[in-house]
Amino acid sequence: MGALSGERCDEPSSSALSAPTVEMLEAHLAPYAARSSSSRGRRYPEPPPLARTEFQRDRDRIVHSTAFRRLEYKTQVFVNHEGDLFRTRLTHSLEVAQIARSVARNLRVNEDLVEAISLAHDLGHTPFGHAGQDALNDCMRDYGGFEHNRQSLAVVDELEAHYGAFDGLNLCFETREGILKHCSRETARKLGELGERFLSGKRPSLEAQIANIADEIAYNNHDVDDGLRSGLLTIEQLAGVELWQIQFCEAKRVHPQLDGRRLVHETVRRVINTLIVDLIDTTRANLAEYAPDSLEAVRAAPPLVAHSDIVAAQAAELKRFLFRNLYRHYRVMRMANKARRVITGLFEAFSEDPRLLPPGYIADDPAVQPRLIAHYIAGMTDRYALKEYQRLFLISEN
Ligand code: MG
Repeated sequence: MGALSGERCDEPSSSALSAPTVEMLEAHLAPYAARSSSSRGRRYPEPPPLARTEFQRDRDRIVHSTAFRRLEYKTQVFVNHEGDLFRTRLTHSLEVAQIARSVARNLRVNEDLVEAISLAHDLGHTPFGHAGQDALNDCMRDYGGFEHNRQSLAVVDELEAHYGAFDGLNLCFETREGILKHCSRETARKLGELGERFLSGKRPSLEAQIANIADEIAYNNHDVDDGLRSGLLTIEQLAGVELWQIQFCEAKRVHPQLDGRRLVHETVRRVINTLIVDLIDTTRANLAEYAPDSLEAVRAAPPLVAHSDIVAAQAAELKRFLFRNLYRHYRVMRMANKARRVITGLFEAFSEDPRLLPPGYIADDPAVQPRLIAHYIAGMTDRYALKEYQRLFLISEN
């Protein structure tokens, strides 16, 4: 036993795992890919990781974070308790990572980086999906607003409390850049190096561009699937949506015996595949045309990760369909209305009397108080927010 624990405490027997492994792991990358070996680095310098790249370390830190586990109980469109099979922010993020990695591997760009960005992109989302974010943004109108992209960055830069040497996860510049999909010019000015591209009109890495479009591919498809599962959408309604209908007819032609949920799955997987293949083909053509020979050349080029014109128009049609028929469905609107009441009620109660807040969220400087309340509320899962609302407003709860 003694010998065993002694062995465990030994220094690693060789450093042969570090530098050569990283080079080996990134040897297949194209010249325009982001490389962890030439990363702009972390806010707090750290020794290089053993046996993995810098971007793998980012991905691992994200997976081990508290905010990542909270995604399991945050709404995508349907509130968590509405059904066990609907997407949550966690399964959404996993689907985004799957799509983004498929595209990245085909284009020989950095899979570890696209995975890190994909898994982190929604860490800052409030409970109750977009309804929650809109309500919190309204509450914060006089205090700098609330935007989930900016909040995802706050989570990885400041709010996670896991490491001894720094607040946040201390991620690489390239991962943080990918998380900050958009921001106002005013915010960009405050963010220094990270905000630069919004002021100079430059692009982020191809990995960030891929994660961004993978997000759209994932939610357009799983919202159709969840919409059908819930009965809020029907197959008949979707007949007018070209992207869907082409694959639906094809699925029925190849598998005439299929119906019900299985036909839906067969169609959805074909639509996802069509979008991924189109994205890879079009981006490959763009890369051939602009021939960027480095990440810096990617930043200076127009957006290179894109769909063909035909598929882009079809995807936009599907998006409009979902907006009209699902996101504005009266049953979704009713839930959104409840979400707004909960978020607004919590914010107002905490603002009126910050002593209702748990320790750690009470500011010494009153000017900072609204932001700390926003951090507290944004970190809540759907059910925690509902419970907290009951605890504050129902006499029988404690
Ligand atoms: Mg998303």
